[in-house]
Amino acid sequence: MNPAIESMLQNYGVTPETEAFLRDTQRMYIGGEFVGSDERIDVTEPATASRLTSVPAASNADVDRAIGAARRALDAGPWAAMKPAQRERLLLKLADAIEAHAQTLGEIETIDNGKAIGPCIEMDILGAADLLRYMAGFATKLDGATRQVSIPGEHLAWTVRQPIGVVAAIVPWNWPFNMAMWKMAAALAAGCTMVVKPAQQTSLSMLYFARLCEEAGLPAGVINVVTGRGSSIGNYLAGNPGVDKVSFTGSTPVGRMVGEAAGRALSPVTLELGGKSPMVVFDDADPKAVAAATRWSVYFNAGQVCSAGSRLYAHASIYDDVVRELEAMTSAMKIAPGLDPECDMGPVISESALSSIVGYIDKGKAEGAELIYGGNTPDSPGYFVEPTLFAAERNDLTIVQEEIFGPVLTILKFESDDEAIRMANDNIYGLAASIWTRDISRALRYSDQLDAGTVWINNHDIVDSSMPCGGFRQSGFGKDMGPEQLQHFTRTKAVWITL
Ligand code: NAD
Repeated sequence: MNPAIESMLQNYGVTPETEAFLRDTQRMYIGGEFVGSDERIDVTEPATASRLTSVPAASNADVDRAIGAARRALDAGPWAAMKPAQRERLLLKLADAIEAHAQTLGEIETIDNGKAIGPCIEMDILGAADLLRYMAGFATKLDGATRQVSIPGEHLAWTVRQPIGVVAAIVPWNWPFNMAMWKMAAALAAGCTMVVKPAQQTSLSMLYFARLCEEAGLPAGVINVVTGRGSSIGNYLAGNPGVDKVSFTGSTPVGRMVGEAAGRALSPVTLELGGKSPMVVFDDADPKAVAAATRWSVYFNAGQVCSAGSRLYAHASIYDDVVRELEAMTSAMKIAPGLDPECDMGPVISESALSSIVGYIDKGKAEGAELIYGGNTPDSPGYFVEPTLFAAERNDLTIVQEEIFGPVLTILKFESDDEAIRMANDNIYGLAASIWTRDISRALRYSDQLDAGTVWINNHDIVDSSMPCGGFRQSGFGKDMGPEQLQHFTRTKAVWITL
């Protein structure tokens, strides 16, 4: 292992399980077996910018094998024969295994991705176990209905909901474990089998999870994990006629390609894509609460959050108070490697992400936004950038319109409520938005007008297993989580008997 990573592990301490896993040769999981590949991809640890390990670069033949294994597990064998209640119990057991190994899973995720360890264990890992438990309960509740048909003759007619089949889940690097579970939990509850492709930057937590699937006794082929580049195997998987459903989370440009590939194969597709989510702060809001939620939403996970409240519209009468509170809270943040228990914000994922974020900061300055706080990259080998706060007067600036996917917030002033909602909606995305006011009528009126898949009132970036997440407009279509998601993983069959 690279000395810089050795010394980081020594410094902060990790479980023996984490250390042993990181020293192992990483293998994919296909048809219940751990398999290697001829080609491998180096994995870089973002806090030290040094080589952590490598993962297999799957070939198209590996993807075919994974799809074949998923198909066999769907059609025959213990998974296909399982009663819904047995499936539920198995998923609960898998959730228990995740919880029992939460510390190790959290450490692996933090080291691989750079995120702060505390929220990682709490939200990414234990949140995933919660979601699996929530969805497990639906295994026994996917009912059809009998229908009163009116055509001549005597008929009995009903519907049944069946698993849609083999699901391809393609997930991003910002929440590697959690986003994969946002697909897996509902798909497994519905009785589907899966091929999961994590992002090439962050495949480790899924590879560790494969061991937990073994431990929990998930039958071979129900979950297959293939690692590799999106442009090659991701694309091959998305357009593969052996796949019955594609569930994708990632950027809008890649989502478009995935949609095209799935369309050619006539596979139904769910696209959870990018965002540029507005926070609208009316004159009667509490500036401290706004600042606390904004700091959390736009700076945790180093701003690499699809629904980050990255453009904040504050009423002129409250604007200075919000800026003051935000500056105070932002300047108190500790930027450190994610394993540091006091870390508020870790590094971003990669050198290219860092240079893209710095490019946006430079563009913000060049286009006339005022830099209020941050904007620098600390002198360290890792991919760190300061939490950054801009003030802007124009809604059409690049930093206001484009998804930066880094810890950069822009605050703008407004005079009238209608003007604020107009500016909030003036964007290609429609993932999420928030409204801040003590006036419930105002909140309800404007929550209706905001063109976003989620609207929070007096909060931002909270999620729950029971609430569907998914965007409007260029943020995609379909929902993850909530009962709505089960629709994506079941198909309805109509059955008739003429008596
Ligand atoms: P990305 O689009 O670059 O990659 C996502 C996944 O797609 C990865 O596994 C990647 O390997 C794969 N991929 C890349 N090219 C592909 C291709 N041509 N065909 C098939 N697969 C391909 O996204 P990212 O950089 O990993 O993640 C960041 C993006 O994800 C941001 O835009 C963010 O807003 C979005 N995101 C959205 C949500 C949501 O719920 N809407 C949640 C998290 C992240």
